[in-house]
Amino acid sequence: MKNTEDMYYRIYDLFGRRYATEAKQLLRKSQYWDRGQIEAYQLKKLKKIIGHAKNNIPYYQRTIKSLPGENWNYKDMIKYLQDIPVLNKKNIQQHFEDLIDPGADKKRMIYQITGGTSGNPIRFYHDRKKLDYTRVALQRNFNWAGYYLRKRCLKLASGSLEAASHSNLKGKIKNKLHNRYFYEAAVLDDKRWVNEILQIIHDKKIKVLWGYPSIIYMLARELHGMKNLGIETIATSSETLQDSQRKLIEEVFECPVFDEYSSREFMIAGECEHHKGLHINEELLLPEILDEHDRPCGYGENGKIIITDLLNYGFPFIRYEIGDNGSLLTNEKCSCGRTLKRLKNVSGRSSDNILINGKAITTVFFPGFFKTIYDVEAFQVLVYPDAMTIYVILRKDADNNIIKDLDRRLNAIFDNKIPLTIKRTGKLIREANGKVKSIKRMD
Ligand SMILES: [Zn+2]
Repeated sequence: MKNTEDMYYRIYDLFGRRYATEAKQLLRKSQYWDRGQIEAYQLKKLKKIIGHAKNNIPYYQRTIKSLPGENWNYKDMIKYLQDIPVLNKKNIQQHFEDLIDPGADKKRMIYQITGGTSGNPIRFYHDRKKLDYTRVALQRNFNWAGYYLRKRCLKLASGSLEAASHSNLKGKIKNKLHNRYFYEAAVLDDKRWVNEILQIIHDKKIKVLWGYPSIIYMLARELHGMKNLGIETIATSSETLQDSQRKLIEEVFECPVFDEYSSREFMIAGECEHHKGLHINEELLLPEILDEHDRPCGYGENGKIIITDLLNYGFPFIRYEIGDNGSLLTNEKCSCGRTLKRLKNVSGRSSDNILINGKAITTVFFPGFFKTIYDVEAFQVLVYPDAMTIYVILRKDADNNIIKDLDRRLNAIFDNKIPLTIKRTGKLIREANGKVKSIKRMD
């Protein structure tokens, strides 16, 4: 497996000044470094990228006041970093041109546009080195999940952007090299898709499923009761994986689910075999968790996730507010031996906090609430300016009175101040890009 990977990356690098072999050699070792080594590495990278941004990038020439000191230690550096203003999506929309390195070779940069689930799509560039490191980091996260290079994988994708990138010639060659098959699962209206997916799993001897948790969950519901599907591991990404979804998926496919946290901007984190939080790819990025006043949160405290990219010189992201919330697990070493910090409770977009009739509900309320309700497998809350509708998918053996019971319990929690309707449904509303938002604004 190691040899296949080595050879694959060597060939990849032959396509011209690429960094995959270099990235692989580092990332294989660095996951087991002690904290001192990781901090020393991050300190060096931070000094370099911030110095570069301050000296060359018009936007940061205005927002960063001074260069970091030559002799600073890690703590000095973090303190200094906390004084640099947070970069949000609006800043990027307004100052796109000023965030590009004027000296960069644009032919070597890869233009990106985000899906914009938060309502704020952004444009940016990956530079070559950052993209190569990101790809190798993704493969490392997959390796933790037992999904090694060229293991037969079916990606249940969704959304037109993704479909296009898999259907062109380059995408086809890449999928062939990876032994990766692709099924466009945006429309799941009839039973046909279940049979088609089963056919692919059988014909192509698929061992790995990869995709949105809500899609794999829908599939698991349909396949409930079937045995020996032959899947060995499942990777979920791009949406919050609800505990009840994980449970049913693992039960039906008789294998573990590994959650990944990534976005178009970054490959952020992934679960190891212990499934206790998601290890952050700290060689690529520095995470921070901030409260609503932009003050740092302690371990275990939920807040906004802020990312500083350590590698992207062409379009630096320094203290970027990605739009998700989460918390850092205690700094105790994971049983797997890896020292990379772990994220937990990655959830909701911070802009999705609910305010109805002057009463605010945090984004983490509903996931927490439904976690304790056995009868509900999945949920979606539609938020109107003065009311909300909650759709629930019930377990097959759910209690007959569960809807009434939920109604009573939620009204008690909200003091009867929020008009709410609870409805049973077979499927949740999907965005144009294929994602399901557990909290969806309707105003
Ligand atoms: Zn671990």
